[in-house]
Amino acid sequence: MRDPLTGLSTYENFFEHAQTALSQVRALASLIAIFSIDVDHFHYVNEDYGHDGGDAVLLSVADRLRTSLRQHDNDTSTVSTICRVGGDEFLVLCEGVLDPAAAAAIATVVLDAIAMPITLRSGQAMVTARIGVAMAERYSEAQQMIVEAETAQDHARTVAGGGQHFFTVELREPREQVQSDLVEAMRHALVADEFRLVYQPTISLTTNRIVGVEALLRWERPGIGTVMPAEFIPAAESSGVIVPIGEWVLREAFRQAAIWHQRYPKSPVHVSINVSARQFQTGLVPTIRELLIETGIDAHTICLEVTETTIMSDIEGTIGILDELKALGFKLSIDDFGTGYSSLEYLHRMPIDELKIDRSFVAGLGGSTVSGAIVASIISLAQTMNQEVVAEGVETRDQLERIRTMGCDFAQGYLISHPVSSVEIGNYLVAHATGQTLIGFNPSGSDEKFKPWIAESVLIVDDATDVRMLARMCLASAGFTVTEAAAGATGLAMARQLTPDCILLDVGLPDMSGMDVCRELREGLTTKECTIVMLTGHADRVDKADAFLAGADDYIVKPFTPRDLAARVRSAVDRRRAMFETVGRHVDTALLEMLRTVRDQDGDEDLDFDDDNLSSRQIEILRRMLGGQRVKDVAQELFLSQSTIRNHLSAIYQRFGVRSQTELLKMLRKRAAEQAQ
Ligand code: C2E
Ligand code: CA
Ligand code: CA
Repeated sequence: MRDPLTGLSTYENFFEHAQTALSQVRALASLIAIFSIDVDHFHYVNEDYGHDGGDAVLLSVADRLRTSLRQHDNDTSTVSTICRVGGDEFLVLCEGVLDPAAAAAIATVVLDAIAMPITLRSGQAMVTARIGVAMAERYSEAQQMIVEAETAQDHARTVAGGGQHFFTVELREPREQVQSDLVEAMRHALVADEFRLVYQPTISLTTNRIVGVEALLRWERPGIGTVMPAEFIPAAESSGVIVPIGEWVLREAFRQAAIWHQRYPKSPVHVSINVSARQFQTGLVPTIRELLIETGIDAHTICLEVTETTIMSDIEGTIGILDELKALGFKLSIDDFGTGYSSLEYLHRMPIDELKIDRSFVAGLGGSTVSGAIVASIISLAQTMNQEVVAEGVETRDQLERIRTMGCDFAQGYLISHPVSSVEIGNYLVAHATGQTLIGFNPSGSDEKFKPWIAESVLIVDDATDVRMLARMCLASAGFTVTEAAAGATGLAMARQLTPDCILLDVGLPDMSGMDVCRELREGLTTKECTIVMLTGHADRVDKADAFLAGADDYIVKPFTPRDLAARVRSAVDRRRAMFETVGRHVDTALLEMLRTVRDQDGDEDLDFDDDNLSSRQIEILRRMLGGQRVKDVAQELFLSQSTIRNHLSAIYQRFGVRSQTELLKMLRKRAAEQAQ
């Protein structure tokens, strides 16, 4: 599919391409840049030259984009991708960009090319454009980069001056100044005790129980809030202030580990600590020796994580230090494995106990066959070398099951638990001691519905890119894991595969109606229990009734506010869960007995609802009806429409071969009484 006017990529293709390119960025020796280009005052062009003239200008801009990127593509043997979004805006993705300066050079070439006069049938047109650019960082997401590029472009619009602007966040302030302020603030933070550690559990894929935690650094910066490592560790490393910060991390994690081991001797967990390259170059071993004595911790309970890049930056030096650390008793792990071009030749010379599969590969599982192959080969490599393997960044049940099947030993990721405070880890450890597994277990023992340590997943099925983008942003910031599909058939396939907690479903999809998708989901064995929230462009009453009839849990009319959307999804998921907690898992035993009796005596195998002949929802409706509730009350309590209830009821009657509730009741009571005798 191409843009019919310019022949450029569609946004969908562009987006997919960006995602693939980003998932393949490894060491970031060269970068990916996304440019957002906006033609200035395009409406004047339309006014002055008519729509044909406008189209001709867009065609020519598209052409010039292609030609001006050719040089870069040739130099780097890459292929830039261009797409047109929203009339007069374009997005460009370039790979192999060395640094921001190189991106600036590309932007200048592009802007110069666009600014050349354009010959039209009715004369010559001159247009200018503005550019915003975003450069990939590690783990950048396409969505986020596009938004950043557009924000930068927007910013370029507000900066006074001629027609051409190039803007990046780095260019806003001289970089060095920002850096040195940050480094100063970090030095101060050490003194002012602004750092803290959070801990993310790792579970065994054999037992599902917690086996270790990774200490992750957070900076509580007064007036700013929690600052994540990605925002300060790079500057800490390049300035060297990571050395004292790293020492603080080691001391704090050792201290915490000692407390846990004393308090929860039945839950022996490893504490993993990230150690940076700079620490390796500056007296790591003597520092660690002192800390061992100071905290009295047993080195065998600590795992030190070193990235592949650290090792490769000075192989011989690192091997020497690793040997010394091993001799002290530490467990050693290679972090972000698969991203640093390890030479296998060195790998077997190192005293490594564990490989951590980088989360970019885990994220690619299911989607890309390459990721699957990489994960499989890391696992088999580890097995050959007698090392253990941890998969990082496990976010979905599907990923968890895949790595389990592949023979991975351990898993870590939002699905299992977000990084949490030491107190919460304490709760996990108590749970561990009593034999509980981590997935799905609520350590605080309260019966709150929302379990924050399991990211719930939402699949957005909508063909409108802007709706998907908005929905993704607000759901992700509300803590959901989000996946997307642009069409009904893909949505169905993804829903079957991923079994998300919630499906946000557009009514008007290009290939099939949202209602049909909804009905199919409700019929699917794996998807029938998902929460379904329908989205529609019209406040159409008929639609609404249809949506509930088709089995939807809620119905939202576009446009929605981000807060409203997240809240509605949240409550729909909670409602449905509450329903299953009373029904699906522990179906009323009396009813169960009754139904079994009916089935047994009729000798009718079809009635075996254990094989899903009655959905959990139908059983719930039946239970309430048998309890003497009226359709209206049941509808209200289950947040369904009365016609949905009636629909379910007639399906139930059909299944039992009766015509009314009274008949059904009579039959069930009689059978139950016979059974009781
Ligand atoms: P890392 O060592 O790869 O740590 C794992 C990171 O992945 C953590 O980010 C964690 O919150 C995040 N994560 C865990 N599960 C998931 C998931 O399911 N999905 C996604 N998307 N992410 C997940 P965090 O805490 O922001 O740390 C980022 C990086 O900063 C760490 O990556 C590590 O390289 C560095 N870092 C953190 N703490 C320290 C420290 O104390 N010392 C040093 N030198 N580096 C640290
Ligand atoms: Ca790590
Ligand atoms: Ca990692």
